[in-house]
Amino acid sequence: MSTPHSSSNVHDRAQQALADDFLRKAVHFTTDRLRNKKQAVTGEFGNWEAWRERGQQIRQHTIAHLDYYLDQFARHLEAHGAHVHFAATGEEASYIVREIAAAKSAKRAVKSKSMVTEEIHLNHHLEEMGVQVVETDLGEYIIQLAGETPSHIIIPAIHKNREQIRDLFEAESGEQLTTETRDLAAFARRRLRQEYLTADIGITGCNFGIAETGSIALFTNEGNADLVMNMPKTHIVLMGMERVLPTMSDLEVFAHLLPKSATGQNVITYMSIVTGPRRDNEADGAEEMHVIILDNGRSRQLGDPDFQAILHCIRCGACLNVCPVYRQIGGHAYGSVYPGPIGAVLSPLLNDGETYQDLPYASSLCGACYEACPVKIPLHDMLVRERQRLVATGHVKPAEKAAFRAFRQVFGNAGRYQTTIRIARRLQFPLAHDGYIRAKIGPVAGWTTSRDFPALPKRTFRELWPELVRKGNGRG
Ligand code: SF4
Repeated sequence: MSTPHSSSNVHDRAQQALADDFLRKAVHFTTDRLRNKKQAVTGEFGNWEAWRERGQQIRQHTIAHLDYYLDQFARHLEAHGAHVHFAATGEEASYIVREIAAAKSAKRAVKSKSMVTEEIHLNHHLEEMGVQVVETDLGEYIIQLAGETPSHIIIPAIHKNREQIRDLFEAESGEQLTTETRDLAAFARRRLRQEYLTADIGITGCNFGIAETGSIALFTNEGNADLVMNMPKTHIVLMGMERVLPTMSDLEVFAHLLPKSATGQNVITYMSIVTGPRRDNEADGAEEMHVIILDNGRSRQLGDPDFQAILHCIRCGACLNVCPVYRQIGGHAYGSVYPGPIGAVLSPLLNDGETYQDLPYASSLCGACYEACPVKIPLHDMLVRERQRLVATGHVKPAEKAAFRAFRQVFGNAGRYQTTIRIARRLQFPLAHDGYIRAKIGPVAGWTTSRDFPALPKRTFRELWPELVRKGNGRG
């Protein structure tokens, strides 16, 4: 799997994305639509803030008692005949799936959309052992054929147009196809139906696990998850350990919050709830069900007052649709499975090491993500705290360090500040025109390449103030 941008840092990848006019238009178009639909549907629904409040309370309570609810969830699942596995790492989760596949002599697997399986690169691990995995969500199927990774949590192929999709489908099938959405969807439907019939294993994610019943709730718009979990003999569920809810009535709250936030739909098209494998008197369902509950860095956030709330996330993608950075650069530029504001916070938390440490800087800190989040996660505050952490652990460029030291020296002393202003005003003289500096020189070039830099005024407010007071304009 690849992304169209291969550079190793977010700045370079963002530059490549910004040069791609098609990508920017496509991302703008789709995120605008999702955002506008969400606004319309939540306005019509009413009391949206009260629903957000309730969603936040449920998630806070659940994550604060996660050990209790996970234990209850696992016990109820086992009582219904499911096998429950706890995996500390992505490798462990992949190993468990491979063991199940080997025990079943599986050759083919169908899969519904799941960010956790992307996180652990499950398809790659299965294909390595000779199991062919077919994605059945239309967007995921498209990017699987393209050999790419998703660029949005909810709309994985947001960066593809109909011509590109037609070309991918023609290359796969050898058939001639039109660019009509109906024809393209019909081709995918024909092709995928065969896959459901021949797959040995069905793999799904889990939107929510219900502790009081031991049920798995899955939300889709295509109904593909129902076929994935019912047609093959073995159903494997992968879920992040935080995706549990205490009760069915809590699910009702999220049955509103998730589709409204994700796609601006009043209700999801298919909400399927499965509680264990098929029983003797039942007509459908898998004969064997395995639920793999993944940690992979999540439990490190428990008890951390700065970051525990990241486990409240329900992966709706609403923060991506409003983020001024994501809307310009799309998902691949983040270089992580989780893009946008949630990815910028989550990826460095889940992964130790250097790989994602530049992501907390891929944000304007405008707070739009917080306003959009159905469970009120303060992503913008977390981004600042991640930056603080990086600085505290020495992850800061020497030039940046020197710049901030100079800033502190100047702004920490009134005399020094005034002297610096006087010197800077003289130095800017050859560069300032009509109140702006437009020359691309030295450290301001990064700004002046695409914007005008305001020049220092002839007199600063501090210099004007005594005069205003003398004239009597400086009071009240
Ligand atoms: S952080 Fe909030 S808005 Fe973003 S994906 Fe998670 S729940 Fe949705």
